Amino acid sequence: MKKSSAHDKVALLKMAFTGLDGDELHEMAELSRFCSYSADYTVCHEGEYENTFYIVADGKVVITQKTNDSGGERILRLGGQGDMIGEIALIQSVPRSASVRTTSECVMLEIGKKDFEVILKRNPRMAMDITRITLDRLRANDKIAIKDLQKTNKVLRQLDRNKLEFIQVAAHELRTPLTVLKGYVDMLHAFPDIEENEALRSMLAGISKGADRMHEVVNTMLDVTRIDKNILNLAAAPVLVKLVIFDIVVSLEKNLKERNVEVIINHIDDMPNIYADPSMIEKALYHLIVNAIKYTPDGGEIRISTRKVMLKNEIPGIEISIRDTGIGLDEEHHQLIFEKFYQVGSVALHSSGKTAFKGGGAGLGLAIVQGVAQAHSGKVWVESNGYDEGNCPGSTFYLQLPINAPCEEGED
Ligand code: ADP
Repeated sequence: MKKSSAHDKVALLKMAFTGLDGDELHEMAELSRFCSYSADYTVCHEGEYENTFYIVADGKVVITQKTNDSGGERILRLGGQGDMIGEIALIQSVPRSASVRTTSECVMLEIGKKDFEVILKRNPRMAMDITRITLDRLRANDKIAIKDLQKTNKVLRQLDRNKLEFIQVAAHELRTPLTVLKGYVDMLHAFPDIEENEALRSMLAGISKGADRMHEVVNTMLDVTRIDKNILNLAAAPVLVKLVIFDIVVSLEKNLKERNVEVIINHIDDMPNIYADPSMIEKALYHLIVNAIKYTPDGGEIRISTRKVMLKNEIPGIEISIRDTGIGLDEEHHQLIFEKFYQVGSVALHSSGKTAFKGGGAGLGLAIVQGVAQAHSGKVWVESNGYDEGNCPGSTFYLQLPINAPCEEGED
């Protein structure tokens, strides 16, 4: 960087600030100085607090913004003679919002923040000029950012579709050999040699349990692809919610005993039946109850309650709440957990097993619950005072469903 004086300060300032008169331009020229920079020199650094304002007197610059932490950047604009740079730092004490790099040898007219403030106080017209230029640039930057976001959104949507297609193919490919495996296991049970041999019998039970669990995972994968493609094909029939909850809890009795977790069910006396898709409602409640067990330490308690509620537009509905005494959930995750594949914390730290404490999963359960709720014009949400594995504040999941869901009539 070296000083240069072969340029006319007043002419340059006039180019930048059209509203200033001769005296004002001369006053400003007095407080400014020319500096020269070689090509590829970074004049302003994004994220840094810098107090100099520049007008390009000669040469070219490029104004860029970081797009990620690993060096990616996008070009906001190119600048040349008469262009103002770093003017926002003069108005507000904020870090630079972009970097400015010379792309050729450059001469800049520079003014320090303090000097500039003195002139600015005396010249409201100049303040107006700077505000106008700044607003124009913000608008132009917004346009670039929106275009970038639209492009990224398109790519993300395509990636999401690819992921779903992969899941669908994987689930279909796994289902066939799994059915064969289960068939052979069932046949093996018929062999007296195996049934009479304690060791073989328990090995076969282990294979059978593993195959059932895999079957469940494969079905969850298929459910989520159906939900995402909006092809749930709901068929309405009377659903006895009390009975569905009871059946799920009974089916999980062994797991609850293993984990020493108690389930307390509390229904209102005149709990109505609802018209909905029975298998979908059962799946949603199953995922909510399994999660409550999974994220509650041994010895905990789960309270399932139902009540009548009025939904949006005065539509009568029911609310099922599942309150656990588990690890809780920080607010920042309350909405995201309903997205496909979203899991809190490191997946590598999860233990395995359907109801093991913090047992791993595919991060699909709550996406299915949300899909089922939406398909029935209901909703699901969570309330929790935050994650605390030591004190276990617990979480409560609420599922609201209309008594008469808008789905197709069932066959029976
Ligand atoms: P997963 O297969 O990981 O359980 P889900 O979609 O069912 O996937 O849940 C997504 C995430 O939400 C879980 O990884 C977990 O972090 C969090 N979560 C779900 N239910 C509970 C709960 N009852 N208590 C605390 N966290 C929960």
